[in-house]
Amino acid sequence: MTVYKLLLLPGDGIGPEVMAEVERVVAWVNARGEARIETETDLVGGCAYDAHGEAISDETMGRALAADAVMLGAVGGPKWDGVAYEQRPEAGLLRLRKDLELFANLRPAICYPALADASSLKRDRVDGLDIMIVRELTGGVYFGEPKEIKDLGGGQKRAVDTQVYQTYEIERIAAVAFELARLRRNQVHSSEKRNVMKTGVLWNEVVTRLHKERYSDVTLHHILADNCAMQLVRWPKQFDVIVTDNLFGDMLSDEASMLTGSLGMLPSASLGAADASGRRRALYEPVHGSAPDIAGKGVANPIATIASFAMALRYSFDQGETADLVERAIAFVLDEGYRTADIAQDGCRTIGTTEMGKAIISALDRMAK
Ligand code: NAD
Repeated sequence: MTVYKLLLLPGDGIGPEVMAEVERVVAWVNARGEARIETETDLVGGCAYDAHGEAISDETMGRALAADAVMLGAVGGPKWDGVAYEQRPEAGLLRLRKDLELFANLRPAICYPALADASSLKRDRVDGLDIMIVRELTGGVYFGEPKEIKDLGGGQKRAVDTQVYQTYEIERIAAVAFELARLRRNQVHSSEKRNVMKTGVLWNEVVTRLHKERYSDVTLHHILADNCAMQLVRWPKQFDVIVTDNLFGDMLSDEASMLTGSLGMLPSASLGAADASGRRRALYEPVHGSAPDIAGKGVANPIATIASFAMALRYSFDQGETADLVERAIAFVLDEGYRTADIAQDGCRTIGTTEMGKAIISALDRMAK
């Protein structure tokens, strides 16, 4: 049996509460006996700052580098608002992304039928929606140089951000998108603004060439990023995988996430380059933050974090079938009418974090028989 190492970094606020429910699912997967996932737990964010004076220690970073996958809960909170910029809780997360060289951010937008009425769009537009947005995470305008504000005198300043992409950066993110599409509905939309941006021209050129050379079995569409934003609210079900740069991906993934209802439901994965054995460094985390307003109350929705663990099963632990089971168990408890407070609905039963975790385990037990 293959043994995988999973580093758990629950972090701050509701992080430890939702991660405890992931541990329940890990125990269930281990008891099933198809793979063995060994977990270690460590500190990141404000709690790491309290313990070591930095948002992630070198020892913890070493564990993250040695693990097959890392799961993060959430970092931050008002307690650390006055902490210096370099030590702030978010610095732990940024260091993880940087040192693990995670260039591909995967944000699924799945609309569970039971929650279709919580979407900002009409039910027929989102019922059964299943989109994967693949965002380039380490390049583009957020990192390009020069990046500065110059004082021009006379009350005038000049601000510059630089959008830069090189061929290899576009190639590797596009390859992730094509490979994901092959596991899904075999369709990729590549989104840029080649009509007004040179990086868009290169993006389009590189994706087109890669598609022709290695992925011609996948259907490729090119779509301008502004049109993509519009189509996402007009008819989102036309999309399977969308691949785009850092800036457009930031916008489009947030837009897509609102199609599905609550922040408490949204998982994510960030992947690095594959090594010779095909193994990729990976960080899995819910999209939401530490929710200080509800921390410690036992009401946080653990589904985003459990769904992030399902992504780890699929992309890091080669357990696609078990990942399917976990995702189906989530849909099943929602169909049964269980809700946490953030997704509460008339006629449904509102339960806490632990009860939701237990309901998912109970569904898994019934479904796996
Ligand atoms: P947030 O995501 O923590 O909370 C926004 C709102 O959504 C709150 O009302 C919260 O109660 C609710 N919410 C979030 N997750 C929920 C869940 N699982 N179940 C039920 N309700 C949930 O965003 P914020 O309030 O802007 O930020 C709070 C702190 O989290 C800040 O310190 C911020 O810097 C940090 N943050 C961290 C991350 C991360 O760790 N990746 C991401 C975003 C924000």
